[in-house]
Amino acid sequence: MKRLVAGNWKMHETTRAAQRLASSIVASVRELDIGPNVQVAIAPPFTALAAVGAALAGSPVLLGAQNMHWEDDGAFTGEISAPMLIDLGVRCVILGHSERRRYFGESDAYVNAKLRAALAHGLLAIVAVGETNEEHDAGIAGERVVAQTRAAFDGIARERLPEVAIAYEPIWAIGSGRNCDPDEAERVMSTIRSSMPGLEGSPILYGGSIKPENFGAYLALPNCNGGLIGGASLDAGAFAELVRLARDTAPG
Ligand code: PEP
Repeated sequence: MKRLVAGNWKMHETTRAAQRLASSIVASVRELDIGPNVQVAIAPPFTALAAVGAALAGSPVLLGAQNMHWEDDGAFTGEISAPMLIDLGVRCVILGHSERRRYFGESDAYVNAKLRAALAHGLLAIVAVGETNEEHDAGIAGERVVAQTRAAFDGIARERLPEVAIAYEPIWAIGSGRNCDPDEAERVMSTIRSSMPGLEGSPILYGGSIKPENFGAYLALPNCNGGLIGGASLDAGAFAELVRLARDTAPG
């Protein structure tokens, strides 16, 4: 399966800084010559999509969004729809990030509705799942992520599943510098993989304090097909190094 390396810039960078960062990433990725088995995406804030899209034009780096609404249009103040994203050249979208779930009340049902919309519009969706620190300590990480995964894919045809990536992001590992032990991450990712028929073809990413020093250990795991990267995606040099690691470990 292809490798996927996706950067989530969260609420960082105004347009000019975003364009500069995207241009540096494009230059590094061009130099790396990633080939057909590595996909790279960056998801800037909505306000920087047009500027970053211009910087990515003609490059293999996909423009991503961090969220979207499930309806195409309507009275949904403050929201952005799939057709609006596509209009700006967006090709992929992160859904159900734990920060969306935690701070904005994003439920499993919303994630499911958004995933249906992303599939209907041909966007590559990255669905994020993960357990809290308390759930981790209680030993129910597997249970939690299986419930989130099944809810996200509820009613979606099995043959569509390979079009969706799942990011396993232990919430306690996000932005904390406390990355998950790779063996433990593998156990959870293999649980996700076997939780529904059809997921054997879906890329599964690890996310949570990935850095150039630790990414290789995740890429070596049988059920890890890449990474969803927060902090390190804001540093062009570090992000390029993560892409290089993915390239060097990509299947034939
Ligand atoms: C994320 O926000 O999805 C993430 C994994 O962040 P970080 O890499 O900073 O932990």
